[in-house]
Amino acid sequence: MAPSLYIHIPFCKRKCFYCNFYSDVYGDTSASSYIDVLIGQIKKIGTVPEGDCPYFSTIYIGGGTPTSLDKKLLVRLLKSFEQYSRSASEFTIEANPESLDEDKIKLFLDSGVNRISIGVQSLRDDKLKKLGRIHTAKKAIDSVHLASKKGFKNISIDLMFGIWGEDIASWKKELVEAVKLPADHVSCYELTYENGTPLFAALKNKSVTPLEDDVTAAMYELVIDELGLRGIKQYEVSNFAKIGCECKHNINYWENNEYIGLGPSAVSYIEGVRAKNISDVGEYVKRLNEGKSIIESSEHLTPVKRARETAAIKIRTKEGIDFKWFKDKTGFDLQELEKNAIKDLLAKDLIKYKRENNLPSGIVLKRKGFLFCDTVSSAMM
Ligand code: SF4
Repeated sequence: MAPSLYIHIPFCKRKCFYCNFYSDVYGDTSASSYIDVLIGQIKKIGTVPEGDCPYFSTIYIGGGTPTSLDKKLLVRLLKSFEQYSRSASEFTIEANPESLDEDKIKLFLDSGVNRISIGVQSLRDDKLKKLGRIHTAKKAIDSVHLASKKGFKNISIDLMFGIWGEDIASWKKELVEAVKLPADHVSCYELTYENGTPLFAALKNKSVTPLEDDVTAAMYELVIDELGLRGIKQYEVSNFAKIGCECKHNINYWENNEYIGLGPSAVSYIEGVRAKNISDVGEYVKRLNEGKSIIESSEHLTPVKRARETAAIKIRTKEGIDFKWFKDKTGFDLQELEKNAIKDLLAKDLIKYKRENNLPSGIVLKRKGFLFCDTVSSAMM
């Protein structure tokens, strides 16, 4: 199977209070030099032979905020990998409401982008403000409608819950509003307080009080139920879609398939080697211009480590892990490899067996397992 391609655009108009992804505040000069080196990297990837299978199975431009780039830079970037985007089965771009407009939408569609993921985050202005987002709820709603009206058939929205002061009733109201938007895919995340962010500092000096775990758990269960009722079914811990609208790029990750990551802080995983790029856009540009390596660290994973990682990631999907699929994929027998973890997780009521002809054919998370998915994944590592 062809690898996926991820391109990181490490710029945002402003940093959100909770964010610990690598991104810098947007500046024309640094963005322009960054796109120059990125195009240089893309050119070096290789030429796609006519009629051959896809060079990349999926392409994903994420960030940061890809739409923070001005249109001219986006045109240059998208043009540089035209030859790959033609054959990719899915080509996604992330967009934020404040920087998405009609011109950019048209450019994306003309360039073969067939999926857009919009960082709505919330439909309440007070929540957006608390998170340090720079768009309003109205702007978020308008941008989803605009993308749909202008021709995007595959739209995803991101939502967040569990913000201090939020209650279950208002979250439910927001969810019901969100599913009225013309989006067939929802990624829904609980707010986390990440070290090094302004929000983490606020937590430490007690100016914010996190919600109790049972409240956030109830909010999460509400997501599963409310979206499910409206035909947007859970297919991974944090991802929900109408049938046929599941994100192929992410499914590639969850099946532990290969991918190439371009950009600062991006990760590649090819032939069992995982390599992480340096997380500094200035240094990234400088090193590439000097012909130096941009790899910060790399690790050659042993077959057993690859197999365990596959188990730890794949178990987070709604379909779980089929024993036969796992054996074909990794060469290992899951029941042998994860014998102790499976026994322990069954006893804790976090997973259950899938059955075929009354025999165990795989394992899958139980409802409670989705609430404690990090515990399940760690047990498998
Ligand atoms: S827009 Fe996204 S990537 Fe940028 S600071 Fe906010 S959360 Fe982080």
